[in-house]
Amino acid sequence: MGLFSKKPKSFTVKIQSTGDEIEVDSKTTILQAALDKGLAYPHRCRVGSCTSCKTKLVDGKIKELTDTAYVLSMEDIQGGAILACQSLPKCDLTIDVQLGEAQTEEFKGTITRLDTLTHDILGVTVALDRSIYYTAGQYADLSYEGLERPRNYSFAARSLPQGNREVRFHIRKVPGGEFTEWLFAKDRIGTELTVGGPFGDFQLKPATNPAVFIAGGSGMAPILSILESAGGDDLKRDAIYLFGARTQADLYALDEVKNATRKWQGKFEFIPVLSHEPEESDWPGRRGLVTDVINDIANLSEHHAYLCGPPGMIDAALDHLKASGIQDENIYFDRFTDSSHLLAGAPR
Ligand SMILES: Cc1cc2nc3c(=O)[nH]c(=O)nc-3n(C[C@H](O)[C@H](O)[C@H](O)COP(=O)(O)OP(=O)(O)OC[C@H]3O[C@@H](n4cnc5c(N)ncnc54)[C@H](O)[C@@H]3O)c2cc1C
Repeated sequence: MGLFSKKPKSFTVKIQSTGDEIEVDSKTTILQAALDKGLAYPHRCRVGSCTSCKTKLVDGKIKELTDTAYVLSMEDIQGGAILACQSLPKCDLTIDVQLGEAQTEEFKGTITRLDTLTHDILGVTVALDRSIYYTAGQYADLSYEGLERPRNYSFAARSLPQGNREVRFHIRKVPGGEFTEWLFAKDRIGTELTVGGPFGDFQLKPATNPAVFIAGGSGMAPILSILESAGGDDLKRDAIYLFGARTQADLYALDEVKNATRKWQGKFEFIPVLSHEPEESDWPGRRGLVTDVINDIANLSEHHAYLCGPPGMIDAALDHLKASGIQDENIYFDRFTDSSHLLAGAPR
């Protein structure tokens, strides 16, 4: 270590109800330090989405790697809740959490169908050993034998009241990504997967407000599931769906969106927006970033917003939505994070 390189400070984090003490340095999350110590700290996604590691901060101050205000309810926040996977200590802390793994169900799955949706997104259909009950918008953990850590994928099809024996995902290839490089490497039909879930509380909340859905790339998956599963009063809401893609080659599931919204009784507008479409092409629709189009929506502040896709797009859209006056508690999102930011140990 060089003469002037700073050693991260170390703090003691005490779990009130069990008396366990964990030494956590200022660059390590509470969850990581607890797992390193061998504690059965509840967790799933590790990226601030599933809220399984919700913890009460009894005393002390933390630094959040990501703003957790959108995944925690107002009641949680007022009660001092933090997410251990996103929290770095700034001093000695007292926290409280019920140790023991988060309740999960595991299913045996077999890949039964693969559809090329775009040059880098596969539609993956998986038959399960029994029915899974999920709410549209939720996600599952997928893993194959030998993969160290499962990866998160949103359910992409209608959730059936009688449960789904078959589930579908839209999986985008991440260059250098372990799971997706494996999936795309050869025909995986017949391969067994373990499917865990369902997780997350990204889902359509009952309201009469108009809705704005914003998705990028495979962020289409949970929005399509929400649109296909919507019924009753959901259908009376006016809704706008902004779908961001680079070029026409990245657009997909357009017929599915059209079919899903045929039943809509309120106004429904679907607006694909292309950021890198060649100028000379025949594309008659919107060009630019999805975020450019957000500001064109009339009475935006009255909308409830649902966002899914790459973290960069979500963060940019959140800035626009907040500036428009939409209340924080009316914005719901799932950031499609991968492990790159965790490996670097850097905040996103
Ligand atoms: C709630 C949720 C829902 C999601 N739903 C979907 C969905 O429906 N569809 C979808 O396509 N995606 C979805 N995602 C994103 C998806 O989970 C990730 O894209 C996926 O985990 C990538 O897995 P991978 O194994 O291919 O890549 P990873 O192995 O996670 O790698 C990701 C990146 O990190 C880099 N990397 C790997 N190891 C190292 C290292 N040691 N040092 C530096 N860099 C490294 C890789 O090169 C790669 O670029 C979702 C994410 C979340 C959180």
